[in-house]
Amino acid sequence: MGEAVHGRTTRLELVDSTLREWDAAVVASDPEEGIVLDRSAFYPGGGGQPPDHGVLLWGGVQTRIADVRRRDDLWLVPLEEDPLPPVGTVVRGALEDDRRTALMRTHSGLHLLSGVVFRDFGALVTGSNMDPLSGRLDFNLDEVPAGFKESVEAACNAEVSADRAISAYELSRAEAFAIPDIIRTATNLLPPTIEVVRIVDINGLDVQADGGTHVASTLQIGRIQVVKVENKGKGFRRIRVSLPD
Ligand SMILES: [Zn+2]
Repeated sequence: MGEAVHGRTTRLELVDSTLREWDAAVVASDPEEGIVLDRSAFYPGGGGQPPDHGVLLWGGVQTRIADVRRRDDLWLVPLEEDPLPPVGTVVRGALEDDRRTALMRTHSGLHLLSGVVFRDFGALVTGSNMDPLSGRLDFNLDEVPAGFKESVEAACNAEVSADRAISAYELSRAEAFAIPDIIRTATNLLPPTIEVVRIVDINGLDVQADGGTHVASTLQIGRIQVVKVENKGKGFRRIRVSLPD
């Protein structure tokens, strides 16, 4: 997969989602805007996945990062009371591993849920939200059969146990739109200016255009619990899941 760049920052997390520590140089530092690094593994948020938290270590001090702003550059937002590394400083970046790993499992779990509900019930995703180890997907689904909640949960956990590989790769816009699964993910309508599409593929189950970070196989998601199925009006069902482990 090609190098991913946003403004002056090379985005390491899109090439290696297991990376948790790396060295980088500060290329911009501003009390209002925050910090820009030449290389960063902080996922900035997007596609329903919240931004990473972590620290920059430099000169014997630490700068805690609590948010990321996507502008022309990726601005890492430090806690207000923390020191700001000057331009040129070499820092050690480190992600909060518990949060990122939980978000990767949750994000992959929601793709798995989307694949299962489409395969078994023909329903499309219309909305989503996620926190570490919990999330929800909305589906356009008119009627649900008796035992729907239990059967979705059983099918999801069968796919977890199947240990399907999850991979990310890039396709041209034309190649991506030739995949029927891409067209069915109604929430992933891509702006016409995007020429290269990043694909997240759960082998044999689900293919989506996606910019997030994912675990390497469905087994790494862990057990999926369907907490609730809500009827939100005609043709609108909301499925809430949690990852209890
Ligand atoms: Zn996604």
